[in-house]
Amino acid sequence: MKPSWNAASRKIGSVTDNPEEGRPGCPLRSKAVPLSPRGFELIRLQRPLDESYQSADQQQLATRIGNSLEVLGSSVVILGHHYQRDEVIRWAHATGDSFGLSRFAAENSLARFVVFCGVHFMAESADILTGDDQKVILPDLNAGCSMADMADLQDVQACWEDLDQITDIRGVIPITYMNSSAALKAFVGRNGGLVCTSSNARAALSWAFGQVKTISERPKVLFFPDQHLGRNTGVQLGYNPKDMHVWDPKLDTGGLEERQIKDASILLWKGHCSVHQRFSVPQIQDYRSRHPEGKVVVHPECSLEVVEHADEVGSTDFIIRYVASQPAGTKLAIGTEIHLVNRLANNNPHLTIESLDPLVCPCSTMFRIDPMHLCWVLENLQQERVVNQITVDPETKQWARVALERMLATTN
Ligand code: SF4
Repeated sequence: MKPSWNAASRKIGSVTDNPEEGRPGCPLRSKAVPLSPRGFELIRLQRPLDESYQSADQQQLATRIGNSLEVLGSSVVILGHHYQRDEVIRWAHATGDSFGLSRFAAENSLARFVVFCGVHFMAESADILTGDDQKVILPDLNAGCSMADMADLQDVQACWEDLDQITDIRGVIPITYMNSSAALKAFVGRNGGLVCTSSNARAALSWAFGQVKTISERPKVLFFPDQHLGRNTGVQLGYNPKDMHVWDPKLDTGGLEERQIKDASILLWKGHCSVHQRFSVPQIQDYRSRHPEGKVVVHPECSLEVVEHADEVGSTDFIIRYVASQPAGTKLAIGTEIHLVNRLANNNPHLTIESLDPLVCPCSTMFRIDPMHLCWVLENLQQERVVNQITVDPETKQWARVALERMLATTN
C-alpha cells in the first residue's frame, strides 16, 4: 500500500496552503493530489496579485521593473530560462538551462537575491548550489513542471522497495534528470546514484553501468522522471529498447512481471514532458514533404520514433549551437519549446526556422512567469520583503549536492 500526502487540511490559494511539515525539499512546491478515482488536481499556491499589478499595462510594468532594478543594483540577479517569454528574458542578467543558470547564480555570490524566471525545480537547484546568504525567489509559485511532478518521492521510494524485493538492489543505480524535485535528487544521492542533464545523460548512464557491472549479472539503471530521455540515451549507448521497461507508479510492481524487472537493463519511470511529447513523426514527414532540403533538430525529451526520424538531437544548448553553425539559407524545423524556437528565428534572419509543431506549444507552467510577477517580486525586495523564497531543507540539500557533485565528477 503506497502512502499518500494528505491534502485535506490545505486551503487552496491562501497563504496557509503549505504542504504538511516534514515533506522533504522546498515546502512551496505545487503538488498533484488525487481528488477522485478519475484524476488529480494540482494544488495551487500563488495568491492573485493586487490591483496595482493586475491593472498595470506592459509599458507601466516595464518602467516599474526598470526603476526597481536601478535601486536594487548588484544585490539582485535575474535568471531567464531559454523557454521564457521575451518580455521576461529582456530583464535577465543571464539566460540558459537550469543547471547553467544555477551555477551562474552561485558564481555571482555578491547577489543576495536570485530571481529565477523558470520553474520550481530550477529554483530549488539554485538554492542547492548557491551560498547560505543568497535567497532564491520564484516569481510565481504555480510555475511548476508537470514532468517533475510525475515522479513523487514517495512513489519512487515505494518502487525502490519493490525492486529490493525482486532483484539485487546493489546492482541498481538510480539516475534522475535535472528536471526533478530536490527530494528526488537527494534520493539518488543517498542511494549511490547521480543527476544528469540532457547534455550529459550518456556519460551518466555509462558511469552508472560501470559502477555495478561487477556486482550484478544484470546491472540496471532506474531512470526518472523522463522515460524518453532515458530510452533515447539507452539506445544511443547500444541498449535494446526491448530490455527497457516502463515503471508505472500507479500499478503494483510498476505494472511489470518479475521476469521483466530482473532482465531489464533500464527501468524507465512513466513520466514525460507535455511540451516535447507533442512532436510526432507525421510532423517530420510533413515538413520534409514541404522542404526536402530542410533539416530537423529535436530535443531528447521527444519520443524515440521522433528522434530516429530527425537529423539531429540534442539539449537546448546543443540546438542553439547547431543553429548558430548553419550557413545562410538553411531551412530548419525545431522540436522544442516555442519561445526558444521563435527567439532563434528572430535572431537568425539569414535562416528559415519554424517550429516542428504547427500548433504553438509553449510550456504552460513556465509561461506563468510574467512581467507582472517579476515586478511584484522586485518591488517587494525594494521594501526589504522577500516573497516566494524557495528553500530546500538542509538534509535534502546535502544529499542533492552529493548527486550533483557525482554528476560533475563523472561528466566534466
Ligand atoms: S518544457 Fe517540459 S520539462 Fe521543461 S519545464 Fe516545461 S513541462 Fe517541465
